[in-house]
Amino acid sequence: MYGGDEVHITPGMQRYIDQNNEYLARRDRYVREVVKKWKFDTIAVHGLYSVQESLDDYQGAIIEPMFLSSSQAYRDSDEMAAALAYLIPTWCYSRIANPSTYYYEWALALLEAYGSDAETSCCSTSSGMAAIMTAVQPFLVHRFHHKHEPRNFLATAQCYGGTFQQFNVRLMEERDIECRWIQDPTNIDEWASRIDKNTRFLYGELPSNPGQGFFDVQAVADLAHSHNLPLICDTTVATPALLRPICHGADIVVQSATKSLTTSGFGVCGAVIARRGIVTSIDNEFLKKDFALYIKYLPNRDYGPNLHPMQAILTLNDMRTLRSKMDLMSRNTMKVAQFLSTHPQVESVQYLGLPEHPLHELASKYLWLVDAEYDEQYGRPVNRYGHLMSFCVRGGAERTRKFFDGLQRVWRATDLGRIKSVATIPAISTHQQQGEAGRKLANIPGNLVRLCVGGEHPDDIIADLDQALRKVKTGVAVAVS
Ligand SMILES: *Cc1c(COP(=O)(O)O)cnc(C)c1O
Repeated sequence: MYGGDEVHITPGMQRYIDQNNEYLARRDRYVREVVKKWKFDTIAVHGLYSVQESLDDYQGAIIEPMFLSSSQAYRDSDEMAAALAYLIPTWCYSRIANPSTYYYEWALALLEAYGSDAETSCCSTSSGMAAIMTAVQPFLVHRFHHKHEPRNFLATAQCYGGTFQQFNVRLMEERDIECRWIQDPTNIDEWASRIDKNTRFLYGELPSNPGQGFFDVQAVADLAHSHNLPLICDTTVATPALLRPICHGADIVVQSATKSLTTSGFGVCGAVIARRGIVTSIDNEFLKKDFALYIKYLPNRDYGPNLHPMQAILTLNDMRTLRSKMDLMSRNTMKVAQFLSTHPQVESVQYLGLPEHPLHELASKYLWLVDAEYDEQYGRPVNRYGHLMSFCVRGGAERTRKFFDGLQRVWRATDLGRIKSVATIPAISTHQQQGEAGRKLANIPGNLVRLCVGGEHPDDIIADLDQALRKVKTGVAVAVS
């Protein structure tokens, strides 16, 4: 069925197939008639794990069990044959699937489709980088069995440093697959002018890490589709609590679930979420019909970038409170951004939430706290802009390091999305490897500080930033005298 030999179905196999088809029909009905009607928070808390399922199969455990087993046993050869031919749902071997990652995948698939009719599925991955690799590789196959076939794709130049390396070094330099960097993704003409017959997909990160780049998802999705190409979005910074690109026409979303989805900071993990029925010029029915399941069952089975079940449950547990955390941390970030934008030692602040940010209006079209209209406190739609911001310290790279070294509460780490405030200097960390030219392309000056504001009281974070900025000022006075 999925690329192997034609499977001979014995009567015994057929019995398993029939039983499992009944199970699948029940599950799909539960999704459609129950889960899809819930609000975002309820889906985040429960996902697909139900009281009934727990009582039937898991001794009433109220938290999804952590299945650390490497593999699954079968009743007989018929069940094994049906399972390994993917004719019945199976987890068979934890590189391919696992019940714990299954609950994690369903929760994310449902959250990314929330508020739309889109049917989605999800493939968990060991990291955000693995999610990106997994999402782009299937579009880069040789279509005509022609070895030197030129292939290209478009991607926003403002993106995560790891993504830049994956596209620029691993794909472009090492494998001759051209990445066409889009300098101004708000300019639809720039996207349109870079597409040709060898283009395979469009890729965009929004809001971008760390530069707060943004673009009109709907317009870029429409453009991609008019060329029979998919749009892949990285919305790690927003999370589905603030932005769900699939609801605006995108085909595939990649998440570094390591970040705000795992606010606690317990580990690294990722996910690819796709609508069923993506737009692509690749001639592969399974891939088109259910992209996430396709990569799970075939390419990822063969490459092995799978997620550990323990990590799946840790992340799933963090995701239950995603909406309220994104609200709290976004509000804190807004306060910090407002404070920094009036600080004499700060040259500029980049935060989409600030009205003076050039992309504020566009971002406000897309970044909404999910379900704010049902929230007792708000009762109407409210914009939230996430907890990632950046700013430039006045006076260059050296003073920026001095400020950075003076932080007492904010952690110095190449991390973000935490319940604890974390800062980094991208030029010497996340964007160090891409060199001066690459940083220029991505707009990363040496005095840029990336700050991800956590769940502390914002006054305490403001006090810490202020004392560290004052040290820079003193430093200047000493140097001058
Ligand atoms: C961190 C990050 C990634 C990579 O994710 P890992 O989980 O660290 O592999 C990708 N995209 C964005 C926007 C990120 O912030």
